[in-house]
Amino acid sequence: MDYRVLLYYQYTPIADPEQFAKEHLAFCRALNLKGRILVAEEGINGTLSGTKEATDRYMDFMHQDERFKDTFFKMDESEEHAFKKMFVRPRKELVSLNLEEDINPKKLTGKYLEPKDFKAALLDENTVVIDARNDYEYDLGHFRGAVRPDIRAFRELPEWIRANKEQFMDKKVVTYCTGGIRCEKFSGWMLREGFEDVAQLHGGIANYGKDPATKGELWDGQMYVFDERISVEINQVDKQIVGKEWFDGTPCERYINCSNPECNRQILVSEENEARYLGACCYDCASHEHNRYEAEHGLSEAEKQSRLEKILNR
Ligand SMILES: [Zn+2]
Repeated sequence: MDYRVLLYYQYTPIADPEQFAKEHLAFCRALNLKGRILVAEEGINGTLSGTKEATDRYMDFMHQDERFKDTFFKMDESEEHAFKKMFVRPRKELVSLNLEEDINPKKLTGKYLEPKDFKAALLDENTVVIDARNDYEYDLGHFRGAVRPDIRAFRELPEWIRANKEQFMDKKVVTYCTGGIRCEKFSGWMLREGFEDVAQLHGGIANYGKDPATKGELWDGQMYVFDERISVEINQVDKQIVGKEWFDGTPCERYINCSNPECNRQILVSEENEARYLGACCYDCASHEHNRYEAEHGLSEAEKQSRLEKILNR
């Protein structure tokens, strides 16, 4: 395990994101780091892989900067890089809730719960725990008993909360996400919306899984991550698989993107069904003219047709 994967964010004013991104990219490249960093006027959000020495130097460099001196880096050990390339991209905002008036978490955000207090909240019947991620992330793994908002993407959350307000109004609300950045804004928005008791898991699931006080207990399944690993383990105590195979519903933790590039939907699929359905989520995607499975697997036209026919005849 000579490599490390870092995950971090910092809400802090960055005056010129474009210029910052250029210089930061050069610095990351010099250290042979790989990953994806977003920079906006409201702050920075990154995930990176590199050797232990390189990631140490990166964290030192960041901590010497007044703006990032308190930045908390979540770390995973790794045998190799978790990314293929290095990107640093200027953006309008770090995370989007599709709001007309954005939230500044430096001014308004839910109170922070440390992992052991979050665990207590999970067991408290007067507390509602809301998963503030995308649906495919929840489906691979989530906290036991957490609410799964009926949405596909994080940015649809405010609309969904408004439509389901009465479920949460008289309860304590706790939110969680992968590393904490989405909850900073989402919990702030909940407060602005009139919810009185709103808290967030400090450092997100990534931190909870590393905490010796919880050892990831009450987390089921795996945690989805936005790098080549796709998923990581969190629960070191009593792990259960919650992922369900897209086609047959059997326990499954194997993610693929639908092979129709115009769909690209992320689904949990067994190796067997991936081959059977040409890497697609449905017949339409399997038979789509741009389906990439055929080329990637050197499938003959005859074999493709025969598999498509089998799908129809199932
Ligand atoms: Zn599809």
